Amino acid sequence: MPANDTRAEWAFVGLGANLGDAHATLSRALDELAALPGVESLQASPLYRSKPVDAQGPDFVNAVARLRTTLSPLALLAGLQAIEAAHGRERPYRNAPRTLDLDLLLYGEQAIDEPTLTVPHPRMHLRAFVLAPLADLAPDLQVPGRGGVAELLAGLDFQPLSRIDP
Ligand code: AMP
Repeated sequence: MPANDTRAEWAFVGLGANLGDAHATLSRALDELAALPGVESLQASPLYRSKPVDAQGPDFVNAVARLRTTLSPLALLAGLQAIEAAHGRERPYRNAPRTLDLDLLLYGEQAIDEPTLTVPHPRMHLRAFVLAPLADLAPDLQVPGRGGVAELLAGLDFQPLSRIDP
């Protein structure tokens, strides 16, 4: 995978798991993200526990990572998918429970509309389990085309979410 596609850019990645030891899976996935060639630095949010939204199975453990990366958006997506695959994610049907789900939420201020990649992630502004950890990392962040992360989160207080103590 080419590691020098672009100048360093910041990106936000959403992580979720709801099968097996989801807490341990997320911790490992954060380490693996930080170790991707072309990822220069990583800052992880606190972990959250959430009820499945558009999905099934046990509660999810969620987090968001802020990266600085020289990977292009598509190369970063390929890296995320390689980490998912290494965790044995299967997709028997749409929105099935998953060992590990990684989403590219934001890549700098870019709007990307490729067949395999839409950025900003098209549903991130609807999900408290994305916005809460995102707001921990970047409280003043604007989601392009959607609004401020804190304002978006305030409208989703009906979605049960609890922060997991470190
Ligand atoms: P999911 O099953 O929800 O993880 O969706 C994975 C599929 O969504 C893959 O085929 C990706 O190519 C596609 N996709 C589109 N935009 C994104 C994004 N921003 N982050 C992750 N996957 C994406």
